[in-house]
Amino acid sequence: MSYENITPEQAAIIENTQKLCSQFPPEYWREHDKAGQFPTEFKDALAAAGLLGVMMPPEIGGSGLGLTEAAMIIQTIVESGAGLSGATVMTSYAFASSSVVKHGNAEQKKKLIPLLEGKTRVAFAVTEPNTGLDTTRLKTRAIRQGDHYIASGQKIWITGATLANKILLIARTTPIEETAGKPAKGLSLFFTDFDRDAIEVRPIPKMGTGMLHSCELFIENLKIPKEDLIGEEGKGFYYLLDSLNPERVIIGAEAISLGKLALSRAVQYARERTVFDCPIGQNQGIQHPLAANWAELEAAQAILMRAARMYDNGEDAGAYANAAKYLGAEAGFKACTQSVMTHGGMGYAKEFDVERYLREVMLPRLAPVSQQLILCYLAEKVLGLPKSY
Ligand SMILES: Cc1cc2nc3c(=O)[nH]c(=O)nc-3n(C[C@H](O)[C@H](O)[C@H](O)COP(=O)(O)OP(=O)(O)OC[C@H]3O[C@@H](n4cnc5c(N)ncnc54)[C@H](O)[C@@H]3O)c2cc1C
Repeated sequence: MSYENITPEQAAIIENTQKLCSQFPPEYWREHDKAGQFPTEFKDALAAAGLLGVMMPPEIGGSGLGLTEAAMIIQTIVESGAGLSGATVMTSYAFASSSVVKHGNAEQKKKLIPLLEGKTRVAFAVTEPNTGLDTTRLKTRAIRQGDHYIASGQKIWITGATLANKILLIARTTPIEETAGKPAKGLSLFFTDFDRDAIEVRPIPKMGTGMLHSCELFIENLKIPKEDLIGEEGKGFYYLLDSLNPERVIIGAEAISLGKLALSRAVQYARERTVFDCPIGQNQGIQHPLAANWAELEAAQAILMRAARMYDNGEDAGAYANAAKYLGAEAGFKACTQSVMTHGGMGYAKEFDVERYLREVMLPRLAPVSQQLILCYLAEKVLGLPKSY
């Protein structure tokens, strides 16, 4: 990705990330994708380079960098050929615990240090099978009993749960009937040990990013010390909201870069592949969709950088962060689809990697929030239309 008005520090960060990623060629990612195996060596390299703590505060060993720099690092990782799987390795360490950084006390923040060192892993457990995007209706309960809480319930799609030894869990501490019609109240956030005696983990066979297992969790009588409550009881949902804008920007960045990666592979193939005595890339039917992909990706990137800059300047970045996630996911999806089409039959072969990019690029359209819900947000908050859900 080329960036406008880049500082020498940012250029150095990108160069160092490129150097690190060059040790992990396409075969590395192809093999881990095929085997469904976590890329431990890559995670260790990120930890050694200090990249797992890019946005974490220096007092716990983080670099204290902005969202702009974090997006640049993520995009460099994706475009190196690591794709969304590689980026998720970093984001699941670097961002999953941002609520702890913002609302946790000194003791709780200290517990993030092994995470930044790549020695422990946290599973971020929000989604539930029976409530979906309607997070405020989630059913997992945590009931206070003396100096601890007892939590029980179910979660779904929790990425990294097979390897996690920490869990950031949101659960209901006040019954919904007692929230005076405000279901967002009464949810609490806990950063606690992943106790496998109380949490059964079942990986879900899935379409892409198979090297990072996403799982169903069955939680039964998980004992959580009261010291593991983040901030105040009942305010967990509001703490989660704080991390939404940076998360949108990062997902948008991943999707755009996956599109860029797929586009570069398509262009290379279009130059090299000769059919009817000319490179296929000489045909306008091949050229034009790729040129349109480039334009759409660049447009999404401009909005993305605007959102990241606004967030770093302390401005309200909601509209642009949501727009960046929406545009990035759409432009990335179109570019990955077109890349497979440009490769003809070989687009379907694992050897050319573009089929993996297409599988992976579905995810930014679905999660952590769907495109529909992004449009609902823009319609309501930007256009001033009535709330529709
Ligand atoms: C690979 C993967 C990894 C994930 N990792 C994690 C993780 O680590 N932790 C975690 O907590 N979650 C995780 N998730 C869950 C993810 O955040 C959810 O899947 C996502 O938020 C969508 O929720 P849902 O699947 O329940 O969809 P649903 O809420 O069931 O929605 C289904 C569809 O209906 C649409 N819809 C619903 N209501 C409306 C409406 N009012 N208007 C228009 N459309 C509507 C939605 O947009 C969507 O298209 C992951 C998901 C995947 C696929």
